[in-house]
Amino acid sequence: MKKEKDKNQSFMNGFLADYVLTRRSFMKKASATTGTAVALGGLRPTFKALAAAGGDSAGEMGEWIASTCQGCTSWCSKQVYVIDGRAVKVRGNPNSKVNVGAGCPRSHLGLQQVYDPDRIKIPMKRTNPKKGRNEDPKFVAISWDEALNTIADQIMELRKNNETYKYMLMRGRYSYMRDVLYDRMTKIIGSPNNISHSAICAEAEKFGPYYTEGYWNYRQYDVTNARYILIWGADPLAANRQVSYYSKVWGDAISGAKIAVVEPRLSATAAKADEWLPVQPGQDGALAAAIAHTILVEGLWYKEFVGDFSDGQNRFVPGAEVDEETFEEKHTNGVVKWWNLELKDKAVEWAAERTGLTPEQIRRVAVEYGNAAPHAISWVGGGPVMQVRGGYTSMICHALNGLTGAVDNVGGTLASNKEYTEHFPKPDDFMDEIAKKGKKHEKIDHRGRKEFPAINSGKPGSAVITNNAADGILNEDPNEIKVAIAYMNNFAFSCGQPERWERALSKIPFLVHITTNASEFSWFADILLPDAHHMFEKWGYVKSIGNGYRHVTLMQPVIKPMWEAKIDETEIPWLIAEKLNERGFSNLLDHYKTYIDPETGKEPTNAQEFALYSLKYATQNLWDPAKHKGGDKFNGWNDFLKAGVWNSDPYPFRKRWSNMKTKTKKFEFFSETLKEALEKHAETHGTTVDDILETCYYQARGEQAFIPHYEEPYTAGDEAQYPFVFVDHKSRLNREGRSANCTWYYDFKDLDPGDANWDDVAKINPVDAVKIGLKTGDAIRITSPSGSITCTAKLWEGVRPGTVAKCFGQGHWVYGRLAAKEFGKVPRGGNNNDLIPAVYDRLSGSTVRHAATRVKIEKV
Ligand code: SF4
Repeated sequence: MKKEKDKNQSFMNGFLADYVLTRRSFMKKASATTGTAVALGGLRPTFKALAAAGGDSAGEMGEWIASTCQGCTSWCSKQVYVIDGRAVKVRGNPNSKVNVGAGCPRSHLGLQQVYDPDRIKIPMKRTNPKKGRNEDPKFVAISWDEALNTIADQIMELRKNNETYKYMLMRGRYSYMRDVLYDRMTKIIGSPNNISHSAICAEAEKFGPYYTEGYWNYRQYDVTNARYILIWGADPLAANRQVSYYSKVWGDAISGAKIAVVEPRLSATAAKADEWLPVQPGQDGALAAAIAHTILVEGLWYKEFVGDFSDGQNRFVPGAEVDEETFEEKHTNGVVKWWNLELKDKAVEWAAERTGLTPEQIRRVAVEYGNAAPHAISWVGGGPVMQVRGGYTSMICHALNGLTGAVDNVGGTLASNKEYTEHFPKPDDFMDEIAKKGKKHEKIDHRGRKEFPAINSGKPGSAVITNNAADGILNEDPNEIKVAIAYMNNFAFSCGQPERWERALSKIPFLVHITTNASEFSWFADILLPDAHHMFEKWGYVKSIGNGYRHVTLMQPVIKPMWEAKIDETEIPWLIAEKLNERGFSNLLDHYKTYIDPETGKEPTNAQEFALYSLKYATQNLWDPAKHKGGDKFNGWNDFLKAGVWNSDPYPFRKRWSNMKTKTKKFEFFSETLKEALEKHAETHGTTVDDILETCYYQARGEQAFIPHYEEPYTAGDEAQYPFVFVDHKSRLNREGRSANCTWYYDFKDLDPGDANWDDVAKINPVDAVKIGLKTGDAIRITSPSGSITCTAKLWEGVRPGTVAKCFGQGHWVYGRLAAKEFGKVPRGGNNNDLIPAVYDRLSGSTVRHAATRVKIEKV
């Protein structure tokens, strides 16, 4: 291992060689700073400093300062212990009612990230004009001034030529300061092309809740009051939302509720559950249909929410149609239609044939789950829904919450509490004719085309199709992209078939990447800008829900920025705006100057003031006592800053019953809301809903299109050639894929059940391994129709026979001396996305990563 690290060190030194020659004075400063980081342990921090920060009090050496973690999408409020300007420890912020002082294992890796000696330290520019994976970019250091002047010149060139729609902004991890750069800057320059990462996250998860209960967002779950928790392809103790909170209360949840986990792999949560249902990948919808069927046949639906037959006699008899007139619904719409169109024939035996589970287990889970109503959660994660037909699986799994009356109920599934942050000032008055014209062009990701309905919140063409933007760029369809800025994203690693992104990014003549580390995406950039770390160096805020509350938690620079890092969403756009102003285009700067400090009434005069004032502007309703609307009350900005977090009022249970944002205001088993959206999309394209569904690879026809229903999985690869279904999963230690240069990631990798420290393993059931002659430790190649990777075989009973499971996160060929085996050349382990084809759940725009492909495994 040491040899490998030394080898990579020399590659990194090569990567920075020109920078050493051209920036001697900076190197002096940087090496001094790096020295301090190394004193803290560098790649292997010692725990001495951390010991000093033990206990609850601030102690004599330093102080706890509030901030926020974005190591995953839980967005926990944190406190950082700072000694002499050094961050040495993180813990949960006890002031948050969402994560209630809790943290998770991966939060601590933030310390290794911020002091990572392989961070981008200063702006750099590419000197090799050729772009490609095998082309060393030959980056050299430049000043911020040179970097910003170059960027401004490129943008002005587009404006001069009336080509502003050829500008693109790509967004990865963001805070709610995002609109400064993502929305306002893109609009004022004059482009429609602000492309977020959302569709590679879990958008299909939102599809089911929206088209049943009118809620397009992630849910929170009242686990401590639940009596049954049925979890679909989510791993709340490792990698879903509110990992800190659920880890803290899971003991109580287990005491009060039965827990069943549906997933082909034994996850961290499944290992502690009462039932593990190792479903055949892609067959979750069959299981959900059988559970719904059983609940209705057994008369276990929650009558207070759904209603009942007028005469009290249960007519849900297997195979028999029911007269709609005989049922009086309360807070739902279309339960009998749902039965007649979908459920009446979906008995447990039917589901057992498809899911590979036994009829006994399916019946037992269905009955126990139904008996627990209304405190019976159906928790829908990414597993069953980030699939080609996942939108409908999202609907049918979530619809179980309607049957059991768990929606908006104690011990059930909850929406978001109210919060009162403000939008930034509107950009309209600062958009000139060039901008208005440019903005009208079609977006590069093709949303809204016939084959991409992408229906966010009932509006066709409103959801992003992140991964398809690569094809838009490659094919110059609808137009070429000439200038692009991206921040905290790594689409060349984190999207299915990332090789397409390598070719697409190579095609963009001028690409800027704002990033903490030189990632696969950075390799194709013309300018690299060093980004501030979200937890330690940035002003910002995020919102999150959990535990029946919503919090708005602040990020603040708890230490001075390392090296020359600047804040992506505020400081950098301000600096670009200044440069555009120098070139005669003042609109962006004029707009930013309207973000006035609410305390002093002053307009910002520099990037640092802008970063702070814009945050105070957005959060004023939370900290200004004169503007208080609800939740925690503060005496002013400093009071809020010290606490670090605002908490909402507690959750108002059952307030949305018959007051949902659906067409009928009810929980829709027959979705009038989806019907309207699909018909609108069909009408726009002069065709029928059936034609749209066929074009988009769905099986539903007629009225089935508007109900939660089962669709067969759509998986690439012929079974004879590719005998295993590939199962991708996430790690307890992946900080959104940015853990790859942290030693602790590898030291503790076996926190993920079945995984091994300092290795990248594919988990294969011993029954299968014997058949193909594999043993633990064998080097293997896994191949799908769209790519191949190499890694290590691990025989493990915790994976369903016929599948192979591998954790996402390794396989970087850049990012740092530890992340790659040989920086710029040889990956460490394999990137799961190399196996996964670029396919979509076209109704939500989501990228597919589950039940996506079959693979074959060979010894190498
Ligand atoms: S990594 Fe996620 S769960 Fe852990 S502290 Fe950070 S935001 Fe919270």
